[in-house]
Amino acid sequence: MEQAFSQYEVWFVTGAQLLYGGDAVIAVDAHSNEMVKGLNESGKLPVKVVYKGTANSSKEVEAVMKAANNDEKCIGIITWMHTFSPAKMWIHGLQQLKKPLLHLHTQYNKEIPWDTMDMDFMNLNQSAHGDREFAHICTRMRIRRKVVVGYWKDEETQHKIAVWMRVCAAWADSQDMLIIRFGDQMNNVAVTDGDKVEAEVRMGYHVDYCPVSELMEYHSQIKDEEVTQLVETYLNEYEHDPELDARDRLTEAYSKVWNAAKAELALRAILKAKGAKGFTTNFDDLGQTDGSFFDQIPGLASQRLMAEGYGFGAEGDWKSAALYRMVWVMNQGLPNGCSFLEDYTLNFDGEKSAILQAHMLEVCPLIAAQKPRLEVHFLGIGIRKSQTARLVFTSKVGAGCTATVVDLGNRFRLIVNDVECIEPKPLPKLPVASALWIPQPNFEVGAGAWMLAGGTHHSCFSYDLTAEYWEDYAEIAGIEMVHIGKDTTISEFKKELRMNEVYYMLNKALC
Ligand code: MN
Repeated sequence: MEQAFSQYEVWFVTGAQLLYGGDAVIAVDAHSNEMVKGLNESGKLPVKVVYKGTANSSKEVEAVMKAANNDEKCIGIITWMHTFSPAKMWIHGLQQLKKPLLHLHTQYNKEIPWDTMDMDFMNLNQSAHGDREFAHICTRMRIRRKVVVGYWKDEETQHKIAVWMRVCAAWADSQDMLIIRFGDQMNNVAVTDGDKVEAEVRMGYHVDYCPVSELMEYHSQIKDEEVTQLVETYLNEYEHDPELDARDRLTEAYSKVWNAAKAELALRAILKAKGAKGFTTNFDDLGQTDGSFFDQIPGLASQRLMAEGYGFGAEGDWKSAALYRMVWVMNQGLPNGCSFLEDYTLNFDGEKSAILQAHMLEVCPLIAAQKPRLEVHFLGIGIRKSQTARLVFTSKVGAGCTATVVDLGNRFRLIVNDVECIEPKPLPKLPVASALWIPQPNFEVGAGAWMLAGGTHHSCFSYDLTAEYWEDYAEIAGIEMVHIGKDTTISEFKKELRMNEVYYMLNKALC
């Protein structure tokens, strides 16, 4: 249905057994085919479902699980038990399975056929107890999975599968994700740092350092014509003052836009050459002035590369860079967009108390409420203080969800907060992109819980994703997740944090 996920498929495996004879297996197969066809034709699922037949024995289960592991297109498996499928036959296969698992508890027929139901029907349609047998062995073996309960034609059921599919796509994408750091962490910052080895073990992505001098080799190779062409693209795409439209006069503002375009081309070129899916920058490391160099942090480039799908984290924040890339992948084809953001300034206003979300420059234009405006202003932070280009806009009004990952020393914690974006007032003296939100359930509890959980000032936000996506992700990755939403209270939340501390201390496999 969507171009973005066309390289992926999810496998559908139906559990059965041969006890009831060949005719039963043929019927199970026909029903399964019809259900998979129906799911694909629903238009609600972003990834194609491929029916892999019935699994009737331990050998068949193991074969399909091994095949799933080795198939790059397969990003997850849906299992459903049409008849009673004795679950010991799933043990060896489940031991092997490395792909995400969704257990769908549904039934071919919606209602009981009261007038016609006989014993043959009973023997064939056994999901009610077959799925419980399967669930038992998953729980017994501590298999992490999503359990979706509902009639397969219902929109709500399909939505839950669709959410999981998007998470599976982001998970698959992150298993060969390379994040490049241009410069290190901002000195002394704790919350954005962490264990890169454990991040790769647990979440799949790999983080490399790249000297800015190597980036500058790409920068020096960028041709003037390409830069001029990209500046034209900017001027066509964004609102701007006439003074920027100064191709013949070469005003300072025009030259700053030109520099920003050159920085974007250099960054894209090196990221492509390295096969990287994300990057971080640091305003203290911009190249040496006796060679090729950036005149300020490449803010406009970061904004535009984020919109293109590159993960981004400011000040060396590689965890946010990886998380943003995942958010962007999950968000493909959804309408309202996503961005890296930072808690900037508080606005105390009773029940409407809110946090201004912004950054020095780097906010993704996918969340803009209006056409972004290209502006050039002075930025007096970092090693090279200079006029620099950026996209200025305010963000859409509406509900969203923001997330971060922190390293607690013995594990990663994913912190998720539902937020409500509200209308900001104009900021005539602050020419950066921004959003204004009330963390749920309100500012005091939302911000308080986030801080008790040890959350960052950086987070990855989306209007389209919900906590359900993050729950599915935490389940797949096997990391802790805490959710701050409308029902959160500080005292219950503190209890959850304390309980989790014990759980993860005892559950060494997850630490
Ligand atoms: Mn920052």
